Amino acid sequence: MAVVASTIIRAPYAADPSRSRGRRYPEPSPQFRSEFQRDRDRIIHSAAFRRLEYKTQVFVNHEGDWFRTRLTHSLEVAQIARTVARLLGLNEDLVEAIALAHDLGHTPFGHAGQDALNQCMSDYGGFEHNLQSIRVVDELEERYAEFPGLNLTFDTREGILKHCSRAKAAELGELGLRFLEKRQPSLEAQLANLADEVAYNSHDIDDGLRAGLLTVEQLEDVPLVGPLLDRVRREHPELPQRRMIYQVVRYLIELLVADLIESSRAAIEASGVSDPEEVRAFGEPLIRFSDPVRRDLRHLKGFLFKNLYRHHRVYRMAAKSKRVVRALFQAFFDDPALLPPQQQARAVAQEEALGEAGRARVVADYIAGMTDRFAIAEYGRLFDPMHLT
Ligand code: MG
Repeated sequence: MAVVASTIIRAPYAADPSRSRGRRYPEPSPQFRSEFQRDRDRIIHSAAFRRLEYKTQVFVNHEGDWFRTRLTHSLEVAQIARTVARLLGLNEDLVEAIALAHDLGHTPFGHAGQDALNQCMSDYGGFEHNLQSIRVVDELEERYAEFPGLNLTFDTREGILKHCSRAKAAELGELGLRFLEKRQPSLEAQLANLADEVAYNSHDIDDGLRAGLLTVEQLEDVPLVGPLLDRVRREHPELPQRRMIYQVVRYLIELLVADLIESSRAAIEASGVSDPEEVRAFGEPLIRFSDPVRRDLRHLKGFLFKNLYRHHRVYRMAAKSKRVVRALFQAFFDDPALLPPQQQARAVAQEEALGEAGRARVVADYIAGMTDRFAIAEYGRLFDPMHLT
């Protein structure tokens, strides 16, 4: 209905649902929402979205109730992306849909889980969380009578598929084409990608400090963060540490968002793009940080990698998580009768169609859909004879 969109002023280069390449299975237009709002709503109502609540961002779910999960991370990404989208005149509904869906394909236990599953799948086409997000929204969600998956618009799917090898791109048809032709995705997709960086680089500092894995002293020499720490100490010398940390994180998000808006605005203006197709044909992304901030972010990521993601306590949990994923995969792959009936039926059908690789993919889909706690419980059920439930 025209009333939905007509009150919103968007830039000419913003994604426009009326010019979208549409859905894989044509549907009548929604009555009260835009097409991208409908995408967002379908994502929020999906089972994969609800499961993000119990999936690792950095810390495994049961390590503490105050850490980010994939769900709260995705909400933070959506919030940051919407703020920037509004200021740049982009399509907020689309950017929100992409941000909320961007991590749907993550395995339990975060990157450790993915790496283990990828290893298990090395003879069967590998496993990659970003591609899995597309599988989730295109195939694995079973909710609607008329089609498999969520039947999202091309624009949302394009935004979810952030990166892709050339070999995989060739298998993905229209969706993979831009990786072969070296074209850009929409500005909304570019924005969701960088909002992800703003969110995790900021909140991982917060979570790392609260977990006691990082110290404030360590942060003093880190680019971007060090100067903000000085600023907070200057402005509020008596502030207790916890509030000081929040204030630093708040300033960091503010700084990154301001830089993103300013640099992107300048790049869009200089490029002269005047519609979404010109955005896609342009030689490089137009949503960007300035060069100095990009350089500083690289240093910050390096710091977090060394001191947080590779901290021995995080590493030790990652090693345990990998063992769980490998053991689950091996058990189900070797004996599909251990799978629940629905997955068993899929495994049989896929094996008939594609051989062992088909069976392996069904097992990978099943494991990837698990939450941290379900995977741990399932491990107990499979390997601990005293585990009865
Ligand atoms: Mg993310």
